[in-house]
Amino acid sequence: MRIKLDTIDQLAWDKMSGLLPCTVQHALTGEILMQAYMNADAVKESLATGKTTFYSRSKERLWTKGESSKNYLQLEGIYSDCDNDALLVQALPDGPTCHLGNRSCFAEAPKPLLHELDALIASRKGADASKSYTASLFTKGLKRVAQKVGEEGVEVALAAATADKDELVNESADLLYHLLVALRANELSLDDVLEVLAERRG
Ligand code: AMP
Ligand code: ZN
Ligand code: ZN
Ligand code: ZN
Repeated sequence: MRIKLDTIDQLAWDKMSGLLPCTVQHALTGEILMQAYMNADAVKESLATGKTTFYSRSKERLWTKGESSKNYLQLEGIYSDCDNDALLVQALPDGPTCHLGNRSCFAEAPKPLLHELDALIASRKGADASKSYTASLFTKGLKRVAQKVGEEGVEVALAAATADKDELVNESADLLYHLLVALRANELSLDDVLEVLAERRG
């Protein structure tokens, strides 16, 4: 359930000795950012301030993530699991969430698939064009990249119009890939598009 001030009491505090594990997820990308603990006061403080606040077992006090680094986690929502003994926070980070400077404390785990591909494409900018198709696309310039998006878009449209499902999923994969290349070629990223979609969702 979504946690509000009036649902805090329904969480399994007694069973968990007053401390629930809390996973923080990027509200836009779904990326897992960090894991910590909340007590009832931490949940209240998070809801009241809009800044994600935990109970720190080492500091033995409420800890607002970002209190010294200013890398706050702007709260979007708190949700409990099926038996109300674990929490999921969705938040928008002001900066790197990990104190080591990484976006995520689980920096070595693969990102969600499209973000993984977007990061790989970005890393191919300026790479050896004889060894990488993506690098060669960047070298050929905006017009060639735009042309590929157009071609793949037409292929998707044809497959959709003829109800060719195999073709449609394959051409859609081609289109998504070339779309990410076109965005990166224009110094934009998948996140810039997701932000627009999120704004439209309201
Ligand atoms: P901050 O809350 O970002 O101002 O950081 C304050 C202190 O909290 C840091 O010096 C670390 O000791 C600790 N800390 C910050 N971020 C994390 C994190 N993601 N996971 C665990 N400890 C953290
Ligand atoms: Zn559970
Ligand atoms: Zn960390
Ligand atoms: Zn194609």
